[in-house]
Amino acid sequence: MSKRNSTKVLEDNLRSSTFAEVDLGYDLKNAILEAKRCLACKIAPCEQGCPVKVKIKDFISEIKNGNIDLALEKINEDNILPAICGRVCPQETQCEKTCVLGIKNPENAINIGKLERFAGDYGKLKEETIISKKEIKVAIIGSGPAGMTCAGVLAKKGFEVTVFEALHEVGGVLTYGIPEFRLPKKLIVTEWEKLTKLGVKLEKNVIVGKTITIKELEGKGFKEFFVATGAGLPKALNIKGENLTGVYYANGFLTRINLMKAYRSEYHTPYKIYKHVVVIGGGNVALDAARTAKRLSAETVTIVYRRSKKEMPARLEEIRHAEEEGIQFNLLTNPKEIKGTDKVESLYCERMILGEADQTGRASFLPTGEFIDIKADMVIIAVGQSANPSFFNNIEIERNKYGNIIVDDNKLSSYPNLYAGGDIVTGASTVIEAMAHGKLVAEVINKKYQ
Ligand code: FAD
Ligand code: SF4
Ligand code: SF4
Repeated sequence: MSKRNSTKVLEDNLRSSTFAEVDLGYDLKNAILEAKRCLACKIAPCEQGCPVKVKIKDFISEIKNGNIDLALEKINEDNILPAICGRVCPQETQCEKTCVLGIKNPENAINIGKLERFAGDYGKLKEETIISKKEIKVAIIGSGPAGMTCAGVLAKKGFEVTVFEALHEVGGVLTYGIPEFRLPKKLIVTEWEKLTKLGVKLEKNVIVGKTITIKELEGKGFKEFFVATGAGLPKALNIKGENLTGVYYANGFLTRINLMKAYRSEYHTPYKIYKHVVVIGGGNVALDAARTAKRLSAETVTIVYRRSKKEMPARLEEIRHAEEEGIQFNLLTNPKEIKGTDKVESLYCERMILGEADQTGRASFLPTGEFIDIKADMVIIAVGQSANPSFFNNIEIERNKYGNIIVDDNKLSSYPNLYAGGDIVTGASTVIEAMAHGKLVAEVINKKYQ
C-alpha cells in the first residue's frame, strides 16, 4: 500500500523566531499525487467521519483530474470554510480515522485535511447570485465559525443578516485564539469579504446583553436570532498561588498575542519576556500557548499534563510540531501548587499513574505520593473554558449546570425564535462542530419561510 505524501513544513530551527505558518501545504503536483492514492470507495466511509458530511470522494476525484475549482465547489456544498477546516479539524479522529487506507496504519489514511486546505487555498468559486430576497431580518450574535456559517447560508437564501460581535475583530477563536503559525489571519479576512459580498452586515464592538438587548433587537425588526457566543471564559485550577504575578490563563495570553499583536514592537501592548514557561493542560489551547511562548523567546517551555500523551485531546499534528520545536512534555504530572512569594518561582506537582477508564472513556489518573518541583517564572493555565457569560445579562433562557444554553434537536432555545449553537451549547468543542450547528440553524430558519 502506498504511503501518504506529506506536506512540507517550516524548518524546526526557524520556528522559534517567527509566527509564519508552520505547515506549508501541498503544491499542485503533490496534491494530485496524494489524490491519486484515493481508492474512490463505493461507500466512502471517510464521509461518515466528517461532522458536515463533505463529499470527500468527489472532491478528491476533482483534484485527481486537476480541477481545483470544481473540487472547491464540491466541498462548498457542505462546508464554506475549507481553507480553515483543512488546517484545524482534528482529522485523525474524524474523516481520516474512517478512511480505509488507514485501517492498518492510521498514518497512511488519505491526507483529506491537507487536500481540503489545498482546494480552499487555490480553488476559485463562481460569484453567487441571490435569487429571491426575503425581507426577514436575522440577528447573529458572535462572529466565530458557528456565526459565520449560519450567516453565509442564510445570506445565500436571501435573508437580511446582521452579525453582532463583541470584539473589534471578527472570527471568534479563529482570530483571537488559534495562533498565526497555525491559521494565518488573512484567511479569516478573505472569508469575511465573501460574506460581505453576500450582503451580510457586521456590527463590531457590540455586546448583545449589554450594549443592546434581544428585546431591543426585536424592536428594530429582527425576527430570528442565532446565538453563537462561544466558550470564552477560562476555567481556574483553584490551587494555591494562582494569583501570583506571572500566572496567566491561556485565553487572555493568546488574545493579547493574536488580537493585539503584543509580540510586535510597533504595537502598544507590551509583553514581558519570561524564561521558564510551564503550561498546564493537554488540549489544543495548551499546545497553542506553549508554542506561542516558545516564539516569544522563552528558554524552556514545558507542558504539564496529568495523563499520558495518548490521552491528550490536542490534534496529533500539533503535538508533533510542538515536539519538533523543543517543547518539553511532563506527562502524568498533576499541579498541586504554584510556588513563589509575589512572583511565580516554580510549579509543585504530584506524579500520577494511569488507572481504569473513566466516564469519558479515557484512562483515569491516580496519585503516587511522589512530588516534583518544576522551575518556572510563568505559568499558563489551559484546563478548559466555559460559556461566555456576557449574553445572559438581560434575558431569561434555560441553561444547564455548566451555563450552556439548552436547545432542542433544531437548536431552538427556550426563548421564542432564538436558536443557539457552537461552544455556547456544547461547551468547548471544535470548529467543524460549531459550523455544523450554524448550518443546521440556517436550514431550519430557511424552512420556516418557504
Ligand atoms: P467562538 O469561536 O468562541 O466565537 C464566539 C464569538 O462570539 C466571539 O467572537 C466572541 O467575541 C463573540 N461574543 C461572545 N459574547 C458575545 C456577546 N454577548 N455579544 C456579541 N458577541 C459575543 N477547534 C478545532 O476544531 N481545531 C483546533 O485546532 C482548535 N484549536 C483551538 C485553539 C484555541 C486556542 C481555542 C481557544 C480553541 C480551539 N478550538 C479548536 C476550538 C474552536 O475554536 C471552537 O470550538 C470554535 O471556535 C467555537 O466556535 P463558536 O462559533 O461557537 O464560538
Ligand atoms: Fe475532514 Fe474537517 Fe474536512 Fe470534514 S470538514 S472532511 S472532518 S477536514
Ligand atoms: Fe478515498 Fe479513503 Fe474515502 Fe476511500 S475512505 S474514498 S480511500 S478517502
